[in-house]
Amino acid sequence: MKKLLLAVTVSLLCLTLGAQSKFNPKELFNPQFYPYPGNAQRSAGGEPGAAYWQNRADYSIDCTLDTIAHKVTGEVTITYTNNSPDQLPFLWLQLDQNIYKKESRGSSTTTQAGGRWANGEFTQGDVISAMTIGSAGNSYTPKYMINDTRMQVWLKEPLNAAGEKLELKISFSFDIPEYGTDRMGRLQTRNGWIYQVAQWFPRLCVYDDLQGWNLLPYLGAGEFYLEYGDIRFDVTAPAGLLLVGSGELLNPEECFTPEQLRRYNTAAGSDKTVMIRTEKELKDPSVTGKKPSITWKYRISNARDAAWSASRAFIMDAAKINLSDGKKSLAISVYPSESAIGKKGNDWRRSTEMTKASIEHYSAKWFSYPYPAAINVAGIVGGMEYPGIVFCSYQSVGADLWSVTDHELGHTWFPMIVGSNERKYAWMDEGFNTFINDLSTEEFNRGEFKDAGFFGDANSDMMVKYTFNDEMDGLFTTPDVIQQDNLGIAAYMKPAQMLHALRDVVLGKDRFDAAFREYIRRWAFKHPTPWDFFHTIENVAGEDLSWFWRSWVFNNWKLDLSVKEVKYIKDTPANGSDITIENLEKMAMPAVVLVKESNGKDHRIELPVEVWQRGPVWTFSVLTTSEIREVVVDPDRQLPDWNRNNNRWKK
Ligand SMILES: [Zn+2]
Repeated sequence: MKKLLLAVTVSLLCLTLGAQSKFNPKELFNPQFYPYPGNAQRSAGGEPGAAYWQNRADYSIDCTLDTIAHKVTGEVTITYTNNSPDQLPFLWLQLDQNIYKKESRGSSTTTQAGGRWANGEFTQGDVISAMTIGSAGNSYTPKYMINDTRMQVWLKEPLNAAGEKLELKISFSFDIPEYGTDRMGRLQTRNGWIYQVAQWFPRLCVYDDLQGWNLLPYLGAGEFYLEYGDIRFDVTAPAGLLLVGSGELLNPEECFTPEQLRRYNTAAGSDKTVMIRTEKELKDPSVTGKKPSITWKYRISNARDAAWSASRAFIMDAAKINLSDGKKSLAISVYPSESAIGKKGNDWRRSTEMTKASIEHYSAKWFSYPYPAAINVAGIVGGMEYPGIVFCSYQSVGADLWSVTDHELGHTWFPMIVGSNERKYAWMDEGFNTFINDLSTEEFNRGEFKDAGFFGDANSDMMVKYTFNDEMDGLFTTPDVIQQDNLGIAAYMKPAQMLHALRDVVLGKDRFDAAFREYIRRWAFKHPTPWDFFHTIENVAGEDLSWFWRSWVFNNWKLDLSVKEVKYIKDTPANGSDITIENLEKMAMPAVVLVKESNGKDHRIELPVEVWQRGPVWTFSVLTTSEIREVVVDPDRQLPDWNRNNNRWKK
């Protein structure tokens, strides 16, 4: 989901100088950190353990898009594999379309201010018309119960542990809302509707070793926690529409005209963007042929979800993506003519170039892109990610288009590859993603949109006052509990700032990158917890970081370093000097102190975080030989210092 624009309203807080330090090393460096020891499922070293298990859901879907009624009708066959050590007497599924019902919990908990997840109109939600368990000849209709966005299906016989499978067939339909909580919907353009269809078929809830069934309802802000599997979906739509979806298009020869097919195949080998369907061709009858409808067949493997989009108005272009392991993928963009509006083509006509660059960067830096295509769709959704396909605003141009495209595609790594629980821990997907976006933005086209990156300002006085103020929600807050105005900080910016601090100040780039890469590798297509992340970073980078997580993740503590005193040894500058610095707040970080002498000599002293184990005050000697002109703590502004007025001592 896209970053929220900040409405920075910083109240001017009175800073009490010379205040008593709040710092307590016994609290910060308390030896008790992990809530449970390593076990057979999750090792203390941060890896999936020898007995790690996860259930599996494979989906096979046939559906139809009705462009008169704006409706999807389909049937899904779910093959569910119970790899857990427990017998399951029932299953829980997610019916996300039920959020669009008037009486949904999502509707009922929308504040009067409305906002991004407010339903403007309502539908009947998911209409379930038939359900069977088992294959032909040996099937039955189970009892089921629907509660808001969740459905419980009771089994005649429990599903046995350690690998038993069952087949569940569900017939469903729903009306496509025009504005679907900024996650899906449809947009009227001059050449027809654009449908963006997501959270559209009944999907299994995750049953895990931590809490069994994960049943938090879908309210809007909290995103998704889903099982992995293979998803095949066939969508039948009126001829003349162009339909893109997660994964690989299996029958391009049945969907494209011969000329479009030729261009599509050319694009697969081209580093330059190749036009596949132009605006002029939108109304070309040779596109639609004689058939009334076309069935588009897609398949995506090892994915948590699948989404698709269809429109008569789509212009389409594509280019080859070069992956780090020598494999190839395909960058595809679809957009209406309304999206080709920017100056000098700095708009959706560059979407494929951006998509290609973004995927190539992340693949080379962190983990190779796992899908055969990466599709960027222009439509009503402001910014939302699904495996192999993202939805971005049709109005985005220039730096905005880059930012939203790069962000939504960055979600491929968090949470599509690393499948953490988004409904509980937004910082592990939005925050980690925002962090990798900064590095990608720095690199794209030699920094063309570098100023659109967020991190440059994170340690500015204004941003620190905003991010670390007492009213701000901490990282360890359920997304639905984070106040709407705070989400941009708590879920996106502060966790990204945390990873920058860990990389730039605590570990250094090499140690951090190796550990972060290893976290992705270990937990690719699996379900890590926050503690699996902490264990991995500590074990691979080689540092006990409980003090760091305690400040940044579990508390909303501030950092306020200050220069307390400068003294010459025996009152003579030529003898050297003793510098005393003080930590006034509850967070601690390693610190750099710059000492400038009047003879022009500079000293740069790097203090490890452990100096704060001795208490809030630290004194150290510097071999100065002349009078000191200036002492500065954190001269490079690498730390989020709450009050910089006390960072500098001047003669
Ligand atoms: Zn996001």
